[in-house]
Amino acid sequence: MPGIPLRNGGPAARIAVIPGDGIGAEVTPQAVNVLRAVTAPARRPLEFVEFDWSAEKYLREGVSLPPRAVEMLRDEFDAILFGALGDPRVPSNRHAADILLGLRFKLDLYVNARPVELLHDRLTPLRDRTEKDIRLMVFRENTEGLYVGVGGFFKKGTPDEIAVQEDVNSRKGVERIIRYAFEYARQNGLKRVCMSDKSNAMNFAHDLWQRVFKEARQEYVSIDSRHLYIDTLAMEIVRDPSQFDVIVTCNLFGDIISDLGAQLAGGLGLAPSANIHPGKTSLFEPVHGSAPHIAGKGVANPFGSVLSSAMMLEFLGWKPEAAALRTAVRAALRENHVTPDLGGEKRTVEVGDWLAIKSVEALAHQR
Ligand code: ATP
Repeated sequence: MPGIPLRNGGPAARIAVIPGDGIGAEVTPQAVNVLRAVTAPARRPLEFVEFDWSAEKYLREGVSLPPRAVEMLRDEFDAILFGALGDPRVPSNRHAADILLGLRFKLDLYVNARPVELLHDRLTPLRDRTEKDIRLMVFRENTEGLYVGVGGFFKKGTPDEIAVQEDVNSRKGVERIIRYAFEYARQNGLKRVCMSDKSNAMNFAHDLWQRVFKEARQEYVSIDSRHLYIDTLAMEIVRDPSQFDVIVTCNLFGDIISDLGAQLAGGLGLAPSANIHPGKTSLFEPVHGSAPHIAGKGVANPFGSVLSSAMMLEFLGWKPEAAALRTAVRAALRENHVTPDLGGEKRTVEVGDWLAIKSVEALAHQR
């Protein structure tokens, strides 16, 4: 995918690594190995500091996100490489909410960028679709909507129970994600931006989305902007994904539509994402969760984490290295050097080692 805006364009950076739970703890070290290999030739390679925030720590010490962790990440690190959180031993998922939602909200990471890109024709379940048809970016609003946790119960546990979950949309929040989508399209020469909502049913919250979108599109007249209701978008993206370059939508719809997109491009094992506040410490993570039932077996696909690392490199201004990671993943797919979820027989570590070597080769080849 075309690049995302740089944090500072400088070559040196400090990365906080949070592998987390389940397969997060298996794929993240592979991504770090690949990053170390591909940035090693640089004069000031990346510096990695690992944090053990996870279900294990939460169960052992009762600590999810430690005090002052947010300030430390904000002030001392340029980016965060995140694995996944979720463990059956913490059914409430309290630690995951504290850590991941805590970082998204407190670092104000308002852009959730989830590219949907088919990297090999054989991976899509759509008949007769090829790489050129499936190449789009989903921007999900990442700090508001139904995820803010505002709501409550009334008469809980009785037959008359009422549960309320508020959908919070601020003008500032809606405006900055819509403008980011237009700006991304403009800067990357992409011609089409689609805003998706459910304003026919959500006639207050998404009326705001409509009004902000109509204002913003007037400033981007060279971009073909359109609106689709989320149900129509779900149909259209399956019927003909080639009609989309950039999609922008709210927190909940972005979550759903980007998982749908991930399946069109080969499944969750391959899907990367970035949680960005332009110019500030931002977080990069595979779209997949901790996948407890395959955790510990050594078969998790590291591509999602490695492709998220490529997004991180771009954010930090390491463009050739980011391109090298993507070249290596494409080569692995071509040569079927892949884990079982993609029909291969390789183990997570074998794929990671192979990607490290191929990324370095790809970088040397570019020069
Ligand atoms: P969580 O609740 O933390 O989101 P989950 O198991 O419900 O975890 P995911 O981890 O997102 O959901 O994945 C759903 C399924 O997709 C997994 O159980 C697994 O079969 C498959 N999957 C996801 N990521 C990978 C991966 N990296 N490698 C292989 N299979 C994967």
